[in-house]
Amino acid sequence: MFIRCDNCGWEQDDFWSVGGWGPFDENRIKPLQDVLEKGLNGEKIEVDINFVKDSQIEYEEIDGKAYVDFKEIIILDLDRIKRIILNMTWPTYESFKNDPNKECPQCGSSEDWSID
Ligand SMILES: [Zn+2]
Repeated sequence: MFIRCDNCGWEQDDFWSVGGWGPFDENRIKPLQDVLEKGLNGEKIEVDINFVKDSQIEYEEIDGKAYVDFKEIIILDLDRIKRIILNMTWPTYESFKNDPNKECPQCGSSEDWSID
């Protein structure tokens, strides 16, 4: 279940819970562990070439595929998790429900919520 502002499109991550979904859910951490394991075994990590082509990320191109050092992937994903955490205005549905001054952090609207 997540919350979205229909006025501007702002949204946050699905609500978090202890033992349920959250920033360190297995679905988020397991891919990082897999990347670490591959990297420690000496493998480069294949990524979508369009993802790195116009970025600052160093990559090696082999047969139209892009390969990146595993540390780059881990750092990018931790940065993504950090942004999710920083953007999480109401970590739980209860914290949203109990907030008497619900305002969209992006546009300030207080009446355009979609909870899905
Ligand atoms: Zn908004």
